[in-house]
Amino acid sequence: MASLRVFSTTSHQPPLLPSSLSLNPLSTSPRFVKSPSSRRRPIRSVLQFNRKPQLAGETPRIVVITSGKGGVGKTTTTANVGLSLARYGFSVVAIDADLGLRNLDLLLGLENRVNYTVVEVLNGDCRLDQALVRDKRWSNFELLCISKPRSKLPMGFGGKALEWLVDALKTRPEGSPDFIIIDCPAGIDAGFITAITPANEAVLVTTPDITALRDADRVTGLLECDGIRDIKMIVNRVRTDMIRGEDMMSVLDVQEMLGLSLLGAIPEDSEVIRSTNRGFPLVLNKPPTLAGLAFEQAAWRLVEQDSMKAVMVEEEPKKRGFFSFFGG
Ligand code: ADP
Ligand code: MG
Repeated sequence: MASLRVFSTTSHQPPLLPSSLSLNPLSTSPRFVKSPSSRRRPIRSVLQFNRKPQLAGETPRIVVITSGKGGVGKTTTTANVGLSLARYGFSVVAIDADLGLRNLDLLLGLENRVNYTVVEVLNGDCRLDQALVRDKRWSNFELLCISKPRSKLPMGFGGKALEWLVDALKTRPEGSPDFIIIDCPAGIDAGFITAITPANEAVLVTTPDITALRDADRVTGLLECDGIRDIKMIVNRVRTDMIRGEDMMSVLDVQEMLGLSLLGAIPEDSEVIRSTNRGFPLVLNKPPTLAGLAFEQAAWRLVEQDSMKAVMVEEEPKKRGFFSFFGG
């Protein structure tokens, strides 16, 4: 039988769960599989196990979600990883730094509640806390938009202004957040430089195609030049059927090309588009979908500064079926 590239992870993810309750989406845990005929059990959210990941590193963790190429899933990742962190109990501020094409508010379903933005704060028209939009579903999640669509940015708005903003968030009377997540615009021009300036770690989102990979490689170099050495990647829109047919690069190929630690592999899932259009992030779906679970687990690894490993496995495709992507 032809060899098939699939991928599995380190054995301890999420590390606090006993192996019998493994939530590793790529493990062979029987928890997710009903029978050898690969009928599935309902997917269970990480939250159902009533455990919390251990926060590693100094807070606030300032994480930029970037990619180079547009449309690969930065905003989707910011919304779903951000809300997962909030659901784990951490306080999160998500900054939409995509000034030209702001849409994080839409994905979160918060567009009608953005009355003030950073522009008004900088102009002295409102206080910072008035520009922070608190999510009603998870009150420890707040959204901050830089500007309103089509409004003009103040002259000279750049990295220094964003650093000032992050400092202001750190010194709020209610305390500094655990995570500040910055949704970066596509490209490598001024908007990108502004978004990465205050960050001390990065999550690079890529899809398994050569154009996204070339951009991701370029962005990795720029992040390193800027002193951001902690760079992990999420491979999004993975299709095992295409990998099997050798029409798509495997996650292992992507990892070998970019040489970055892997935070998560997210399958292509039509539920992502549905949730985007409803303004209801995927990770809030009940029961969660495979992509939602993969985002939850990526968030878990982010908290613990952990990563997963892509390995090559010799498989018989028919025996494992689609669910082999998540172990089965
Ligand atoms: P970016 O912020 O990098 O431009 P977005 O997060 O806005 O990208 O995503 C671009 C489009 O891709 C959106 O329509 C989104 O719903 C879709 N998308 C993202 N991830 C997935 C996925 N895993 N499966 C299916 N569609 C996805
Ligand atoms: Mg975006």
